[in-house]
Amino acid sequence: MKTRLDQQVAIVTGGARGIGLAIARVLAARGARVVVWDRDLSPLQANDFTPALAETVDVTGYDDLQRAFNATVEKFGAVQILVNNAGINGPIAPTWEYSLEDWDRVIAIDMTSVFYTSRIAARHMRAQGYGRIVNIASIAGKEGNPNAAHYSASKAGVIALTKSLGKELATANITVNAITPAVIATDILLQMPQSQIDYMLAKIPMGRLGKKEEAAALVAWLCSEDCSFTTAAVFDLSGGRATY
Ligand code: NDP
Repeated sequence: MKTRLDQQVAIVTGGARGIGLAIARVLAARGARVVVWDRDLSPLQANDFTPALAETVDVTGYDDLQRAFNATVEKFGAVQILVNNAGINGPIAPTWEYSLEDWDRVIAIDMTSVFYTSRIAARHMRAQGYGRIVNIASIAGKEGNPNAAHYSASKAGVIALTKSLGKELATANITVNAITPAVIATDILLQMPQSQIDYMLAKIPMGRLGKKEEAAALVAWLCSEDCSFTTAAVFDLSGGRATY
């Protein structure tokens, strides 16, 4: 069993709170040196978790991401793990009422950023001959939630990007996988009306919200050396909602 992550360096985007913070905690507990990138690091201060490095980064800016990646490599010498977790829900509305700005913002944060970070990390990981990339998609990307077309489309894009990149890196000792959670209890739910949460909850056979620690446990395995014959794959985390 190679589930320990001792001395490995793991970048978690959006790791200051929510699912990202839960992932950061479990990776650190398994021995990783965790680097948190978030546009707002202040929630870290309210928690009892201190990452090995924390950087204020907006994942929509390629140059900022490259700068932060270079700083991480300079400090630790290498990056073995990248978890693309940062994301927003965006407004809940039918497609014909979205503003163009909201569409562009959600696609930029939830999908294009995953291309940006993966592009940067893949170059580094190919050179070192090892890497683990995990993308936090959503069941919305498989099924398409009504009134969330921008979010659903961006997460579908993340799923497809995962499958493409995973195949491209399949012989490079780098795995690329995604998870597709249904509703997980975090602050992101504050961006939605209760009716939207009720819609999603009603579709979960287990009849409850997921816990961020449940997502983190799955991600931790996908980040490990034990995950050696699994790539370009999509992992359900939906209490039985997913049918494929
Ligand atoms: P939270 O809103 O609790 O946390 C998201 C984190 O990402 C925040 O710290 C946020 O910063 C950060 N972030 C947002 N935009 C940017 C940006 N441009 N640059 C850097 N950091 C940014 O959300 P969750 O923990 O619930 O969600 C984490 C991931 O899981 C997301 O990708 C989400 O889509 C996905 N997911 C969540 C589900 C759920 O039900 N909770 C279900 C399925 C998928 P700030 O504090 O400034 O907003």
